[in-house]
Amino acid sequence: MNGSMGQRLRIDLTNRTYEIEKLPESYYKKWIGGRGMNSEVVYHESFQGMDPFDPDNPLCFGSGPLVGSFAPLSGRTTISTRSPMTCSNMGTGIHGHGDTNMGGGWGPMMKYAGFDQIIVKGKSEKPVYVFVDDNKIEFKDASHLWGIGTKKATMKILEELGDHDIRVALIGPAGEKLVRFACVMNSFSASGGRTGMGAVMGSKNLKAIAVRGTNPVKIAHPQEFMKASWALREKIHNSPSAIRRRAEGSLDLFDVGNAIGINAHKNCSTGYMKDIETLYGGMQWANEFLFRRKACWSCPVGCGRYTYIKEGKYAGFNCGGPEMESLCNLGPRIDSEDIAGVTVMCGIVNELGMDSVSAGAALSWTMEAFEKGYITEKDTDGLRLEWGDVDTSIKVLDMIAKREGFGDLLAEGNIRVAEKLGVGMDIVPHCRGLEHISVDPRVALGFSLGYAMSTRGSDHLKNYSCLEFPGCAKSRAYQVDEVLKPATAKKFWDNFPSQMTQIDTKPELCNWSEKNKCIADAVGCCCQAIGSWGGAGTWKEAYAPLLKLATGFDYNDDEIFKTAERIINIERAHWLRDGSAIQDDTHIDRYFDEPVAGGPHKGLKLDREQWAWAQQEYYALKNWDNFGFITDDKALDLDIPEIIPDMEKGKKIFSDWVIKTTA
Ligand code: SF4
Repeated sequence: MNGSMGQRLRIDLTNRTYEIEKLPESYYKKWIGGRGMNSEVVYHESFQGMDPFDPDNPLCFGSGPLVGSFAPLSGRTTISTRSPMTCSNMGTGIHGHGDTNMGGGWGPMMKYAGFDQIIVKGKSEKPVYVFVDDNKIEFKDASHLWGIGTKKATMKILEELGDHDIRVALIGPAGEKLVRFACVMNSFSASGGRTGMGAVMGSKNLKAIAVRGTNPVKIAHPQEFMKASWALREKIHNSPSAIRRRAEGSLDLFDVGNAIGINAHKNCSTGYMKDIETLYGGMQWANEFLFRRKACWSCPVGCGRYTYIKEGKYAGFNCGGPEMESLCNLGPRIDSEDIAGVTVMCGIVNELGMDSVSAGAALSWTMEAFEKGYITEKDTDGLRLEWGDVDTSIKVLDMIAKREGFGDLLAEGNIRVAEKLGVGMDIVPHCRGLEHISVDPRVALGFSLGYAMSTRGSDHLKNYSCLEFPGCAKSRAYQVDEVLKPATAKKFWDNFPSQMTQIDTKPELCNWSEKNKCIADAVGCCCQAIGSWGGAGTWKEAYAPLLKLATGFDYNDDEIFKTAERIINIERAHWLRDGSAIQDDTHIDRYFDEPVAGGPHKGLKLDREQWAWAQQEYYALKNWDNFGFITDDKALDLDIPEIIPDMEKGKKIFSDWVIKTTA
């Protein structure tokens, strides 16, 4: 097998056994790898109504055919399972597909150990960690690691195994306590943050998977592959966006995001935070706190950071990270101007093993709920959270991870908190139970539609409609022509640069960009290289040639694109078989009723009629029916006929719910 290792590892924690499964070439052609393989397994090996904490819920760690090769940015790992965090508007007990994508260097080492994917099922009686050492698999006691943070536990495992080149993916105290937004960490600051993969790991009593390997990744056409990889590395390395990102990290997006009015300020309500450029600017942050830069596997960009705080209240604090989403969701989202304190919070969240977006959302929801009088100290064990209060926020983060006091409730995720307290559902910015990241959905309408249509709940990383941002489309003019139909491309240009706020081009843009991103996830490369600012061009320019040279497969670009469509549809089918369709492809009323409070787009809000148009237009592009269900024709075209009976079951659940709620 070229590109891939040709096999996956299945681990049964209940019986402490394992099985190595050989996979045919046809399987890789159908699913590519990484996210594709994972989504296939998660759909077929979970079932409608399954509790995500059921020991049989498959937890998959997948790498792609470019992972561990010389291809640039090729160190990604997708982790997927049925998510405990996400849910449907039909009820918080209805779950669907979840996944997260992490950098670092764990995925390449899993491949060197001989596996494209590790699937974990069952539940260990006692805390355990698994050591995959080439083809040797060991189950090791993790009782002494239980309760220990991710950085310290990583060090202990490396010392125990006696080799600091081993890579460890692990959970912190939050995962052990089944915090629904617990993450998986590796390489000290590379986080697989979203949708609660760490909680499922914790539910299996699995603290960590350590990997070490010595097998090479075979390449079908090595000389041409090296030549093409070198050329792409050079192109990315020297691109203006990579140069800026190397210097500022992903914090380079802060001033841009705020200037165009999409900031998540104050629980994603205002769109804009005054003077943020001087507080959170990438260079200011680097000058004050950057200890050194770091890069994921085989990456010429190096946007990763190590932090060291030299002076002041937090003098001596050090951590891996932060990256932009963490800083934004723990900073402007809670209206804090304390950049040092917020940087410390980012480090704490990683050590406790929580998704920084949902953690920031938990804090900001509580602050707004206090402000609106929805809750009082009676609901929070005497605790009060005010906007910008970093000290209390740090305490609350610890309480969430340990499920202590009010933290136990916040650990359930904002939707379930609002449901339990019977207040504040109107101030939970989410889609499918997953809280929004730092882009205001009333302003950037490509991201907005992408949030709603994302197969893992609200998230930009499934969609990545960056072309809509001012400057991005202009700098990548040919992409617009390549991506969109001529008539739509013309609209882009005619409306530039204000097209970010116009919806008419967005269904088509969304439909294209989600496939672009899906291919990056499936081959195992970082999305920061592709898209409008990445310097590498589209998937077709960047990864399609490398994929063909690595695997030796002769599939054409349309077939690769169709594979992405298959992956997206199997993830969507996971939701649909539980009845989650059009009713969940939307935003909360706040974004339709309450205008943006400040910044360049003050006064803007979503329009219900336009939204309904965009939904239907998007469904038509996908060949889904008017309620968002995958049609039989589409399932047959994508060679996933097995989903057809599940669609019928899902339609029944959906129609029963409609009848019940309209009666
Ligand atoms: S661009 Fe940043 S996140 Fe992506 S692979 Fe490189 S270092 Fe990692």
